[in-house]
Amino acid sequence: MECVAAGLPVTVVDQAPIPHPQAASNDRHRVVRALHPRDAALTRAGSRALRAWRALERRLRLRLLVAVGALHVLPPDEVPWHLELLGAGGMPAEALTPEQLADRYPMLRLPQRHAAILEAAAGVVLADLLLSRLGQWLGEQPGVRFRLGTPVTAIDPAGLVHLADGTSLGARRVVVATGPFTRDLLAPALARRLTLYRQSTLYCRPWGSLHAWSATPAMPTLGSAQGAWLVPPVNGTPLRLSAHGACREVGTMSSDETPPFWKERLCELFASLLAGFHPGVVAGARDGYYLADALHGGPLLLTLGAGTVWCYAACGGSSFKFAPLIAAALARRAAGSEPEPTGIDAVDDPEAGDDLVLAGHPIGRGSHETAGTGSRPA
Ligand SMILES: Cc1cc2nc3c(=O)[nH]c(=O)nc-3n(C[C@H](O)[C@H](O)[C@H](O)COP(=O)(O)OP(=O)(O)OC[C@H]3O[C@@H](n4cnc5c(N)ncnc54)[C@H](O)[C@@H]3O)c2cc1C
Repeated sequence: MECVAAGLPVTVVDQAPIPHPQAASNDRHRVVRALHPRDAALTRAGSRALRAWRALERRLRLRLLVAVGALHVLPPDEVPWHLELLGAGGMPAEALTPEQLADRYPMLRLPQRHAAILEAAAGVVLADLLLSRLGQWLGEQPGVRFRLGTPVTAIDPAGLVHLADGTSLGARRVVVATGPFTRDLLAPALARRLTLYRQSTLYCRPWGSLHAWSATPAMPTLGSAQGAWLVPPVNGTPLRLSAHGACREVGTMSSDETPPFWKERLCELFASLLAGFHPGVVAGARDGYYLADALHGGPLLLTLGAGTVWCYAACGGSSFKFAPLIAAALARRAAGSEPEPTGIDAVDDPEAGDDLVLAGHPIGRGSHETAGTGSRPA
């Protein structure tokens, strides 16, 4: 969409119809928020991203962001600084004392005495609705062509895109955004920079008062050591529960079925954190995959062929909520100009992939070493 807005003729190539079932973006919802505790630069980026989501809604003429707010559970002494940070970015927010927090959200069983910040403009983006509307919008644009159901097998840094049907496309610029599949398109030296993670998520029927759930904000952190988080049911979507502790390094993408071990582990965790939760409320579970830069832990933006190819390996924690900022920056680069800084280090400071590619290994499908899964079942 941003490439179209930049006036570029665009060909969209995907291995499948959009959305692909294992695309990282293909989910019921994702949380978007400004506050990133203890990180002023990302909080400023979050404020800009929230405004960009609203602008995207206007362009698509569709309500995508349900502003249920985001509740950030924090140690009481960290609340004032974070409140000030949000205020400086023009983001409305309310501080809750431990007593107010317990009173307003009685379902929370917090492990320690915590206070909170309720960020009003944050909320939940209806991800699957966005993907199908974006696909439709692109289809309506003159100047956009599609090659769907056609896997890319290799990309030459000079701008030649090789397809599985034996044909090739030439382009002045190539933007690669292949989510968790990205390592398959990189030479081994580049693929090794990216670690693949698999995360289990529970989808639940809300229990108790529906009225209470309708006023429940997204909770990016519930203050637990396992990094538990909650996405409330909005617009008929299920309640979604997971934790950083349910994310593990794996070698390859396989099934999206959640193994019983991980389902039980999440059930135990949420039985301890949410009053009224029991395994009977779990309507389903699903595993998703994403990458992270093995060096810095976030996304990775590589440029190859002196700015001809821009390869963005999206990460798990932030690549959806910042998507409007990331896409605008990638489109600017594809158009040959320098974008405004986004505040996301990897996007603002791309790495020259050519320097990392071993001689004789262009960007393209290649074998790469896989990480072990340890003793825990994947
Ligand atoms: C469980 C889970 C929780 C997450 N939580 C958050 C969160 O809270 N906040 C956040 O910001 N982000 C989160 N993310 C991450 C975020 O959703 C992703 O990083 C982001 O959606 C990636 O978008 P993308 O368009 O780059 O990739 P994708 O959505 O994965 O799309 C990649 C596309 O490339 C196509 N493709 C792949 N290989 C080829 C090929 N060889 N040829 C042709 N086409 C190909 C695929 O078919 C697909 O359509 C989460 C991800 C998961 C899985």
